[in-house]
Amino acid sequence: MALYVQKYGGTSVGSVDRIDAVAEKIKRFKEQGHDIVVVVSAMSGETNRLIGLAKEIQPGAQSPREMDVLVSTGEQVTIALLCMALEKRCVPARSYTGGQVKIVTDSSHTKARIQDIEVSSMQQDLAEGRVIVVAGFQGVDPDGNITTLGRGGSDTTGVALAAALKADECQIYTDVDGVYTTDPRVVEGAQRLDVITFEEMLEMASLGSKVLQIRAVEFAGKYKVPLRVLHSFQEGPGTLITIEDDSAVEKPIISGIAFNRDEAKLTVMGVPDVPGVASKILGPVSRANIEVDVIVQNVAADNTTDFTFTVHRNDYEATEQVLNQVATELGAREVVGDNKIAKVSIVGVGMRSHAGVASKMFDALADENINIQMISTSEIKVSVVIAEKYLELAVRALHSAFDLDANDSVSE
Ligand code: ASP
Ligand code: MG
Repeated sequence: MALYVQKYGGTSVGSVDRIDAVAEKIKRFKEQGHDIVVVVSAMSGETNRLIGLAKEIQPGAQSPREMDVLVSTGEQVTIALLCMALEKRCVPARSYTGGQVKIVTDSSHTKARIQDIEVSSMQQDLAEGRVIVVAGFQGVDPDGNITTLGRGGSDTTGVALAAALKADECQIYTDVDGVYTTDPRVVEGAQRLDVITFEEMLEMASLGSKVLQIRAVEFAGKYKVPLRVLHSFQEGPGTLITIEDDSAVEKPIISGIAFNRDEAKLTVMGVPDVPGVASKILGPVSRANIEVDVIVQNVAADNTTDFTFTVHRNDYEATEQVLNQVATELGAREVVGDNKIAKVSIVGVGMRSHAGVASKMFDALADENINIQMISTSEIKVSVVIAEKYLELAVRALHSAFDLDANDSVSE
């Protein structure tokens, strides 16, 4: 017998039939003797629909407080319908909005952060045999205002409840059956991972894998909540995201290949090589609210240097404008850029104990004649920036170089 927090995403509760199917599934878990706390998203498309209404009625900037009152209704619909579907199956259940649980957040409307969760009434319901169905993505601030946690926030609700209730596992039910070594749409032989560490998952998520909200993974890592990603309507073990274990089992050096094609690169050429230049270049960029990713500064020659960094492709023009101004002020030669680049990364905690991982990566890319434009590393990741047109080729080459391809295809 265990206590599970199960989160079902928007597509899993996207219709009345699916809500019925989720209720069936929960009933089976109850029959096995488990205690179940369910967190649900709004029915698929509903949050976007509500945001669309708000934009129609208040174009420009919508009132953040009223936005939260509005979008939190999506999840409220789902909790009620799911409880009805459970009661119809003689499974006692009770719905809770975020405010009813008392998921207390700060007052940053539309991007609130959880501060505290009151567990007493949930624990009483569990003791009395009820399934608890909680609206994801929402909370209440200390003054009683409804707040929401940011898009995709139901994952965070699930993890936070699991941490507060000391659940045995937080299970994220979704439309894929786990976390893969890479995107199966790019590499046919991509495999579902049985286990991945929080750190690896965080890298994969920030590098473009969209299975889980980054914040939820961070939260789970901080409180050591075992997290499992599973398919809502297919049987299977899914992928367990957990702490690194030092067991003797031979682990792969690389767990996955992540990639991101929405990148652009800019270079300020011929910058005077004096203290404070990096801050003079990146300060205005950050004040323009543009997020910078990989940064490279060359060794100076002739007292000047080149300074290159990447940004999201959508920010390319805005960054170029900022840099043109900065270049004039600094007396730099020129600003050049390329918005057809992509970033490919190999991720694995095994890297810590294995030398030569990066050179193996560079060999594999060289064999395919792919030019590396930038390189950045962390303890468990090596990223390279390459021309976007070689992205698929690079991902496939690396997937096979690091022995991640399935021997016999495991997919259907
Ligand atoms: N319904 C919210 C959204 O679409 C929260 C969630 O699904 O996690 O972003
Ligand atoms: Mg979601």
